[in-house]
Amino acid sequence: MTTIPIVRRPVAWEFHYPTTILFSFVTIVTVVGLPTFAYFFGYTWIDWFLFGFLYFTSGLGITVGYHRLVTHRSFSCPNWVKAGLLIAGGWALENSAMVWANDHIRHHAQCDQEEDPYNAKRGFWFSHCGWLLLKGPHRHRKYATRLFKDPVVMWQHRYYVPIVLSGLALPLAVGLLANGWIGGLGCFLLAGVGRLFFVLNGTFCINSMCHLWGSQPHGQGDSSRDNWWVSLLTFGEGYHNYHHAFQSDYRNGPMWYNFDPSKWLIFNLSLFGLASDLRRASVGSEVSQ
Ligand SMILES: [Zn+2]
Ligand SMILES: [Zn+2]
Repeated sequence: MTTIPIVRRPVAWEFHYPTTILFSFVTIVTVVGLPTFAYFFGYTWIDWFLFGFLYFTSGLGITVGYHRLVTHRSFSCPNWVKAGLLIAGGWALENSAMVWANDHIRHHAQCDQEEDPYNAKRGFWFSHCGWLLLKGPHRHRKYATRLFKDPVVMWQHRYYVPIVLSGLALPLAVGLLANGWIGGLGCFLLAGVGRLFFVLNGTFCINSMCHLWGSQPHGQGDSSRDNWWVSLLTFGEGYHNYHHAFQSDYRNGPMWYNFDPSKWLIFNLSLFGLASDLRRASVGSEVSQ
């Protein structure tokens, strides 16, 4: 009897040019454009205020809306609250909630494997942002099938581009009204493009740093790690080892002293009847509010 040798075909990776060009633009404008504008004109308090406001809203839109609500169903809320969270998340330029959740569910299901979209075994830069710049061979949407039936998620997917543009138009319009064209340009650079760069890299740090550096108190079944200082930039998402162990817990930092503004927002929404069915892992005294 003859045996047929198994030939492993190499996995094809090609550049995804639109994303590469877009992210290069955001990076170059932030690294070169922001300090150049600061040198010649300077930023006003309005620019800094909108930078902070949009950093908070778009960052929490990702962590509370995209991640804990849509991807992990760790709580429920009225459709108008969900729509608000997904508009805020859309302002972060991290794709529609449907596409984002599809990638993230695949990350949990295939962690550290070939099909993991941000597989940390491929190194820091691949898991940080390289994966986005490449057309992976596994970009099917089978992990998002339940979301196709969610009218709010599909509405946000349909209007994703106008939502992104509205997040850039807002600082441009406010700066323009306050201080003319130069004011509009400064506010657009700092609170629009620069803010995008920092929110994006915050999210990227969870996929890279929180799979490379930190502690693993909740299990060593995958490469996820708890890293408290990443939580400072990412509204509490740095407690990533806990999150991988208890994915549908609405908290990533389960202890009361863990810096997790996303869980605080969800808990406070629940006090006003705007969130319900908050899911918590029951693993004994380790977990507390
Ligand atoms: Zn992870
Ligand atoms: Zn997750």
